[in-house]
Amino acid sequence: MGTRTRTDMAASSQPHQDTYDAIVIGAGIQGSFTAYHLAQRHRDTLLLEQFLLPHSRGSSHGQSRITRSAYPRLPYARMMPDSFRLWKRLEDEAGTSLYRRTGLVVLGPAGDPELEGCRQSLGDNHVLGALELAQHFPGLRLHDGEVALWDSTGGVLFADRALRAVQDAFRRHGGTLQDGERVLHIEPGAVLTITTTAGVYRAPRLIITAGAWTGALLAPLGLRLPLQPLRIDVCYWKEKEPGSTSRAGPCFMAMGLSQAPHGIYGLPALEYPGLVKVCYHHGSPTDPDERDRVPPGTPNPDVTLLSSFISSYLPGLEPWPAVMETCLYTNTPDGDFILDQHPKHSNIIIGAGFSGHGFKLAPVVGKLLCELSLGEEPSHSTAPFAITRFPGVLRAAL
Ligand SMILES: Cc1cc2nc3c(=O)[nH]c(=O)nc-3n(C[C@H](O)[C@H](O)[C@H](O)COP(=O)(O)OP(=O)(O)OC[C@H]3O[C@@H](n4cnc5c(N)ncnc54)[C@H](O)[C@@H]3O)c2cc1C
Repeated sequence: MGTRTRTDMAASSQPHQDTYDAIVIGAGIQGSFTAYHLAQRHRDTLLLEQFLLPHSRGSSHGQSRITRSAYPRLPYARMMPDSFRLWKRLEDEAGTSLYRRTGLVVLGPAGDPELEGCRQSLGDNHVLGALELAQHFPGLRLHDGEVALWDSTGGVLFADRALRAVQDAFRRHGGTLQDGERVLHIEPGAVLTITTTAGVYRAPRLIITAGAWTGALLAPLGLRLPLQPLRIDVCYWKEKEPGSTSRAGPCFMAMGLSQAPHGIYGLPALEYPGLVKVCYHHGSPTDPDERDRVPPGTPNPDVTLLSSFISSYLPGLEPWPAVMETCLYTNTPDGDFILDQHPKHSNIIIGAGFSGHGFKLAPVVGKLLCELSLGEEPSHSTAPFAITRFPGVLRAAL
């Protein structure tokens, strides 16, 4: 048990062969929280990551993610109180702040089903009048027939800091985190054998939380999940008048707009002074190992769409991005997570398809994956996240 670094591994030159109670593949936010819960419950756990940490090639990097209580779908709304509680526990354990409460405005056409779902998840008295909206978010323009909701619990999670905090806590609970080590092969069995670029490991349970690479790891195990990696443009927009959009402004989500069918979200200036993060909740299909391979001159309709939204709704911002970065979503066809066991190998647990909204829920996702791997009744129903909702996939696996 303990921490083993790449330097130690290089010095030994011998491949490692070790046995653990549990192995987790992928040290993004979901795998790190899963490993943390396992270690906290005194399971000798190995967390494997293909890249040297920290890295920016997956889905969990960057400084900020939105958290909120407003959710269009009930299963997530029900998990959010637990998630807020577990984030707070990690903050206390780590002795650092991981969340800034800013409030969140949800806007869209009156009667839009997703917006209505959000309203229901918040209860009554959350529709903002024009005056209240102007108080909460002076820079935002609503259009005829649109309404805005207020989620006072909404805010920003400090993503990179959170990832480091949960990995440190995992280690403090006795877990072993090995980065720069790619899993090459999984041999199923009552005791699984995992072969990596540096060693061979055994454990009676395996949790796969490999983000956009999950499909590649599962295909040799006979499972073809409908997971689509998407390249996301992370855009930051400059204030026309410096200081006009305060750092303490709210987050927002726009849903049900015909010109932006997948939704748009934004966060106050945090990463870069005077630059507000506004992104489209969708992107272009990509191979996670080649996401930067965009031929020069390729048109980018998502940025065009965002520019038009900025001009119309946030006229205090310059309508072209000042900074652009990239990130990955891994989407399922229905946008819901996959949290389940492999249909044929019940000691392989899969957490995937977080479809661009998994960060805020990672403490609960990690807890559920830990419980599934220990054969326990999960503390929230995992029925909405079952693999059986993709029937063809199940047939292929059996
Ligand atoms: C731009 C952007 C904005 C977002 N905004 C929000 C938001 O506001 N709120 C919210 O809740 N969520 C948000 N999300 C979604 C959230 O960040 C993701 O759902 C979450 O980070 C997914 O984490 P993960 O652990 O599944 O994936 P990852 O972070 O990609 O982790 C998977 C890890 O597995 C490793 N791996 C893969 N294959 C192997 C292998 N063979 N061997 C070893 N390691 C391997 C990878 O290197 C990677 O580190 C956003 C995502 C993006 C991209």
